[in-house]
Amino acid sequence: ARVENPYAGATPYVNPDWSAKASAEPGGDAVADQPTFVWLDRIAAIEGTSEARGLRGHLDTALAQGADLVQLVIYDLPGRDCSALASNGELGPTEIGRYQSEYIDPIADILGDSKYASLRIVTVIEPDSLPNLVTNAGGTEGSTEACATMKANGNYEKGVGYALASLGDIPNVYNYVDAAHHGWLGWDSNLVPAAQEFKKAATANGATVDDVHGFIVNTANYSALEEPHFKVTDTVNGTTVRQSKWVDWNQYVDEKTYAQGLRSVLVAQGFDSGIGMLVDTSRNGWGGAQRPSGPGPTTSVDAYVEGGRVDRRIHAGNWCNQSGAGLGERPSAAPASGIDAYVWAKPPGESDGSSKAIDNDEGKGFDRMCDPTYTGNGRNGHNMSGALADAPLAGHWFSAQFRQLLANSYPPA
Ligand code: BGC
Repeated sequence: ARVENPYAGATPYVNPDWSAKASAEPGGDAVADQPTFVWLDRIAAIEGTSEARGLRGHLDTALAQGADLVQLVIYDLPGRDCSALASNGELGPTEIGRYQSEYIDPIADILGDSKYASLRIVTVIEPDSLPNLVTNAGGTEGSTEACATMKANGNYEKGVGYALASLGDIPNVYNYVDAAHHGWLGWDSNLVPAAQEFKKAATANGATVDDVHGFIVNTANYSALEEPHFKVTDTVNGTTVRQSKWVDWNQYVDEKTYAQGLRSVLVAQGFDSGIGMLVDTSRNGWGGAQRPSGPGPTTSVDAYVEGGRVDRRIHAGNWCNQSGAGLGERPSAAPASGIDAYVWAKPPGESDGSSKAIDNDEGKGFDRMCDPTYTGNGRNGHNMSGALADAPLAGHWFSAQFRQLLANSYPPA
């Protein structure tokens, strides 16, 4: 039987492949022993590639380490990354059959091996996919053709349902569905529709809500865990901070309150009352010299929020290799009510996407949100991208970014 919180009392696996890269950077040893997720980002990642060991290799190494918890990201849906280009995957929009038989089935075979029964296996299910169906699949300025296609053909929901059902059949697997971040789904117009979309996928293609152990927020994103200097309920001279340019009527200003608020909405939609949340804190520390030490002036809501916010992005819709970011809270179990763990899902130092077009055989495109000279689109309010220059392809090691994350770590490394 599953435990309530798989992180409680667990010894998580440290991925030696990530660890070696972190440790090779100056000062990197300070964090190289942290547990990060293994991304199964293509069919070939199951068997392993020349750069990284395969799934069995990771599980065997976990056993050898004496670990009892392994963290995986399931990330290969047909038509993947429909609102962006940086992580377009190997499967075309209609290839749901291959997703099931060539990707999920082999993973389920390995995870179901009795050799691994002593491991608690956490799976993050398909970052960004269902959130894209909610906000980017038609009707709004940021919508894309590719997301409209995936909404119409139902293959994200079928894929997520299949993954949940197949992996949920394995008693030591804990499925956590990706639920974006507050700067994506935190508005009234998105929150309940998102919970309904998650329910739809979690009851598709053989899955039931009981296959869902919880949800993860902020996967590979930069939204602050806590904004210590202002709350969503604050007002300045009678005006709510929700009216500020930065908050823009969102109901949440940080990931801790978003995770806890969303949790209640999900339970109200029919998910188990025991579901737990994960927060990816790998790159949302926002420390260093730019971190405000107190609230902004009360001359206006904008001055108050701008002066006090620790998330220093130009716009909360910016997502690629954000300049000025730092490592966030170190992974830890049961840090707050309703939250199973703070985790490092995005391995710090791995790029979000290339800043220029780079030829590759990984299916990855060039998204201008990763280009520091780009002036934006409807999904980031037509602001500058805030991305670092000279980034390699998504998933590839970006030394300069790792060094900045370490320098701006909060808590300090
Ligand atoms: C990339 C994957 C990579 C993951 C973790 C994603 O953006 O598309 O290839 O494994 O990030 O770094």
